[in-house]
Amino acid sequence: MKIEIIKCLSDNYSYIIFEKETNTVSIVDPSEFSACDKVISKYKKLDYILNTHHHADHVDGNILLKKKHNSKIIGFGDDKKRIPGIDILLKENQKHKIGDLVFEVIFIPGHTKGHIAFYFEKEKVVFTGDTLFSLGCGRVFEGTNTDMLNSLNKLKILPPETKIYCGHEYTKTNLDFCLKYDPNNLKLKEKSIEINSKIKSKLPTIPTTIGDELKTNLFLRCNDNVIKHALNLKDAPDQEIFTKLRDLKDAF
Ligand code: ZN
Ligand code: FE
Repeated sequence: MKIEIIKCLSDNYSYIIFEKETNTVSIVDPSEFSACDKVISKYKKLDYILNTHHHADHVDGNILLKKKHNSKIIGFGDDKKRIPGIDILLKENQKHKIGDLVFEVIFIPGHTKGHIAFYFEKEKVVFTGDTLFSLGCGRVFEGTNTDMLNSLNKLKILPPETKIYCGHEYTKTNLDFCLKYDPNNLKLKEKSIEINSKIKSKLPTIPTTIGDELKTNLFLRCNDNVIKHALNLKDAPDQEIFTKLRDLKDAF
């Protein structure tokens, strides 16, 4: 599996997944036609389009790419009315093949009601859309904070070496937010050097890993006493910690 990152719009990422054995080319969340098609032209084909959720900045390339390359569009079945051009309807926990690659559908509502992640267990890669970001999580638009917390908890249990490919380059703002409430975290300081140098060189800060996020991402640490303490909510349940963090971040 080879993954190629495509910068789209102001801060979106689309991803090409190339599988050599069967020469299968797929794209995750094509934000726009032209930026994506330019990269696809190298491969001369596009077999599949995978959508994590229905938002325009994740599906706007669907129809034109499908028309040009005769691709099949894959998304969550329950959101079929909102995913333009959908052909293959997925269910929660289902396994599906693109070429020789198998992914599992992880249902992670909260940002939207039909949000899913594509988890490639063998390759240790997960595409998390707008649910889990590097050092952050997505805004809660259609679901509840509880939905979002439960969804993040599903991602937390993936093997620590799993690489995370998310929908946006929000890492710098997320880093500043994490540093504000967790200033003594050595791993976070270490990451901040790496992140700042990548941003300075105009390189993507993606992928991150589940292991790194467990140590640094505040939204994955709602059960951590250090974070509870920093928020002055020592005895609060995880749920309340998450809501507090999400509110603080929305106003950050
Ligand atoms: Zn979104
Ligand atoms: Fe988005």
